[in-house]
Amino acid sequence: METKEVFADKLPYHSIIFSASLVYKQRRKSSKMLKNATLLSRRILLSPIAGQDVRQMTTAADLARQRRSLQGRVAVITASTDGIGFAMAQRLAVDGAHVVISSRHQKNVDAALEKLKSEGLSASGMVCHAGVKEDRQKLIESTAAEFGGFDILISNAAVNPDSGRLLKCTELVWDKIFDVNVKASFFLAKESIPHMEKRGKGSIIFISSIGAYLPNFAVDFTGAYALSKTALLGVTKLLSMELGTRGIRVNSICPGLIETRFGDVITSDKRTPTLMYHNCPMRRNGKPEEMAGLAAFLASDDSSYITGSNIVAAGGMQSNF
Ligand code: NAP
Repeated sequence: METKEVFADKLPYHSIIFSASLVYKQRRKSSKMLKNATLLSRRILLSPIAGQDVRQMTTAADLARQRRSLQGRVAVITASTDGIGFAMAQRLAVDGAHVVISSRHQKNVDAALEKLKSEGLSASGMVCHAGVKEDRQKLIESTAAEFGGFDILISNAAVNPDSGRLLKCTELVWDKIFDVNVKASFFLAKESIPHMEKRGKGSIIFISSIGAYLPNFAVDFTGAYALSKTALLGVTKLLSMELGTRGIRVNSICPGLIETRFGDVITSDKRTPTLMYHNCPMRRNGKPEEMAGLAAFLASDDSSYITGSNIVAAGGMQSNF
């Protein structure tokens, strides 16, 4: 402080101002250079890789505009004329997507389409048995041809022809379960990739199960089926790694016990209330609609930084290995 005052005393006023402004300019210049260099290196490190979608929202008006978050998107959903698949189709359509629904029986497709259309939703549909290669290809190719690609795939179809302990499983049952639940899901996803890339980005959602994590109840009820759902978690992780820089996100949903025709085997079993009491903090079954919001979230840009995730919606049931 003292040195500064003495120094200032000995210099003419204008030269003090000049020196001060020179020092200030030099400091600004070097701090600007430093800032630019830091920004540049941060940009290099953090810049989005070509093809990746980065969600940037600047104003609340942007947010308002994106409220119908799936406007203009096309979604292909398997096993979607009833249960969880139908609830997801309905919700995605409410959020603005055109949904292409499918299942094994034309009459079920017609009935589901009628319901969606009567609600003013945009939907089309066709027969697709998820275990039949030609059906899967037709679903993918005809949707892509009609819409110039598509944005969302929900692979929801699954079978469990013989529930019970793993050691009870025959080769026939094993093949059926893995054919539909794992192989069909993977190839549907693989064949969707080029059509999603045409649109610039995509979201693939596999429907796994809380059974994938094999909590206590899965041992008695769903041996090989549970194993196939665990395999799907691996498919999700691996595919997400291969597609990470290509603008396509891959996630899975693991529902708990949901009240549907498929879930009936377990929900109506007399052992279930006790098992639920010990394993499910919410102590109730879920509804198909309670899976739909999560699917809409994973399909939308709201989840633009989420991939490779297996998300459990099971009333708090234990979900780790
Ligand atoms: P769901 O209510 O029984 O729905 C069955 C739907 O799938 C119907 O539209 C049916 O129509 C269609 N379908 C059945 N087999 C098919 C096939 N091979 N190919 C194409 N469509 C087929 O079943 P959900 O309970 O919603 O189950 C949906 C998904 O959630 C499955 O992946 C299941 O593993 C999973 N999940 C369910 C629960 C649960 O408690 N419900 C729990 C965990 C996970 P058609 O008869 O016309 O084919």
